[in-house]
Amino acid sequence: MDGAAPLDPFDRDDETADDRPEEAGPVIVIGAGLAGLTCAAELTRAGRPVVVLEAGDGLGGRVRTDRRDGYLLDRGFQVILDAYPAVRRQLDIADLRPAAFDAGAAIWDGRRLHHLADPIRHPRALGGAIRSPLFGVLDKVRLAALAVRVRTARWASASEAAGDPETDRSGADLLWDSGFGRRAVDGFARPFWGGITLDPALAGSQATLRYTLKMFLEGRAVLPESGVQALPDHLASRLRLGTVRYNTPVEELIRVGDRVVGVRARGDVRSASSVVVATDPATARRLTGDGRFPDDSSGLGCTTVYLKGRRQPEIGRRLLLDGSGRLSVNHVAPLSNVQSSYAPNGRHLLAAVLLGEHAANLDDEAVATQARAETVRMLGHTAAEWDILSVVRVPFSQFAQPPGIYGRLPEADSGTPGLVYAGEATADSSQNGAIISGEAAARYILGSS
Ligand SMILES: Cc1cc2nc3c(=O)[nH]c(=O)nc-3n(C[C@H](O)[C@H](O)[C@H](O)COP(=O)(O)OP(=O)(O)OC[C@H]3O[C@@H](n4cnc5c(N)ncnc54)[C@H](O)[C@@H]3O)c2cc1C
Repeated sequence: MDGAAPLDPFDRDDETADDRPEEAGPVIVIGAGLAGLTCAAELTRAGRPVVVLEAGDGLGGRVRTDRRDGYLLDRGFQVILDAYPAVRRQLDIADLRPAAFDAGAAIWDGRRLHHLADPIRHPRALGGAIRSPLFGVLDKVRLAALAVRVRTARWASASEAAGDPETDRSGADLLWDSGFGRRAVDGFARPFWGGITLDPALAGSQATLRYTLKMFLEGRAVLPESGVQALPDHLASRLRLGTVRYNTPVEELIRVGDRVVGVRARGDVRSASSVVVATDPATARRLTGDGRFPDDSSGLGCTTVYLKGRRQPEIGRRLLLDGSGRLSVNHVAPLSNVQSSYAPNGRHLLAAVLLGEHAANLDDEAVATQARAETVRMLGHTAAEWDILSVVRVPFSQFAQPPGIYGRLPEADSGTPGLVYAGEATADSSQNGAIISGEAAARYILGSS
C-alpha cells in the first residue's frame, strides 16, 4: 500500500450522498481476485475513486498462499507463466523474486521414470534426452512444426489463439489431426496439458493448448519467493489504503429503471457511478442474471496434496508427470527444489495434484494416503519419508473451455448502463485472462465517462 489517505467513499454523510452527481460516486468493484484488483489498480492510476468489495478475508481469489510450519502452501498448486503479456504489462516479474521450473519433465511410464529434457523449447533435444519410445521421429518433427507455428503467431491470449469460433476444435483433435502418435498424446500431452487446463481428456479448445505452448516457448513457469499470492499482492500495492473491504459479500445489484446504481452488501445499500462484477463466473451469473457466464457445473476442479519430508526428490526442478494414465495423481511438483522458500531449511515440499473426479469420492485422509503412495512409487522413495501436510480441494479451479466458447462469453460492456463485467469469464480461464478482463473493464469505464 502506498500510505496515501484512506479512500472511504461510503463513510460519508448520507444526506449529501443522494445529491451528488452520478459521476462523483466511486466505482464499486465486486471481487478482489486478479481481475478485480487489476481493474481497481487501473482506475486508481487514472484518478478514479474506487472501492473493492470482497466476500472473503483476503486478496487474490483463486491465487492465494497460506503459511504453515514454515511451508508455503498455495491454495492449489499453480504456477505463473512469466511470458503472459498481461502479467508483463502489470508488473516487473523480477519484483516477485521468481524461481523457475526447468523446461522439461520426468515421465512415469508405469515402471520407471524417463527424463524428458526440454521437450518443447528444443524439440530436437528429445532425440538424445529420452530413451523411451514416447516420441517417434515423426512426432518430434510434428512437435517442432507446432512449436514454430505458435512461436510466430501474434496472439496475446488464448481467446485470440482460438480464431473463428465456428471452426475451433478440441486440443485432442488438434493433436490427432496433426498426426501425433498415441504414446505421445497419452504419455505426454494428456498429463502435461491436462495438468495446465485441468482437463486430461484435452476436450477443451485447442486454443488453450496452443497458447500455453507459446507461453512455455517464450518464457518460464515460475514460483514467486513468497508464493503465488505475490501476484495479487503486487497488484493491490497500487491501491490506496482502505480500498478493499474484506468479508463484504455483495448480495444483489441495485437497479433504478434500466440502470445499475449500486449494490447491497451485508444488508447495506451502497451507491456507485459504475459497478464492476469481477467475481467467479457462477456468482457473476447469479448476481447479473446473465446466462452467458459459465455456471458451477462447468467448473474443472483439482485437489493438491502437500507432502513434506527431508529427502531430496531427485527430479531436479522438473514436473513429474504420470504418463501411464493409471494413477490418480496427474503430476507432482517439487516445489522446494524450484523455490527454496517453500520449505524450511533442510526440508522439502512436494505438491501432488489429482484432477477432476479422482478425489471426489474419497475423504481427505484417503486421498492424501493414495497420493503419497503413488508419489513415492514414482520417485522410488518410501511413504515413511513423506508426511502429509495438507489437502487443498478447489472444485472450481477453472471453467471448462470447449471449442467455440470464446465467441460466446460476455464482454466488459454488459449492455446495461452502470454495469461492467470483468473476471476470467469475459476473457479466458487463466491468470492472463483475468488480468486482461480487469484492464478491459477499467478501459471501458474510463472511455465511457
Ligand atoms: C488450483 C488452481 C490452479 C490454477 N492454475 C493456473 C495456472 O497454472 N495458470 C493460470 O494462468 N491460471 C491458473 N488457474 C486459474 C487462475 O487462477 C484463475 O483463472 C484466475 O485467478 C481467476 O481470477 P478472477 O479474478 O477472474 O476470479 P477469482 O480469483 O475467482 O476472484 C473472484 C473474487 O470474487 C470474490 N467474490 C465472489 N463472490 C463475491 C461476492 N458476492 N461479493 C464479493 N466478492 C465476491 C471471491 O471471493 C474472489 O476473491 C488456476 C486456478 C486454481 C484454483
